[in-house]
Amino acid sequence: MSERAAPFHCPYCGDEDLRPNEQGHGAWECAACSRAFQLKFLGLLAPATSSNATGGEQT
Ligand SMILES: [Zn+2]
Repeated sequence: MSERAAPFHCPYCGDEDLRPNEQGHGAWECAACSRAFQLKFLGLLAPATSSNATGGEQT
């Protein structure tokens, strides 16, 4: 039903005292360090390719 991803630890201080923030979906705030952050789903990872193995890097 919901697509909420609940973080278990604050990414900044590692505390577990997280609570939803009213900023919007995926927004959380840490009561320990008073930081607010937002989780964002970027998309599924593409299968690993060997494009980074050889040269040819564009500048
Ligand atoms: Zn924190």
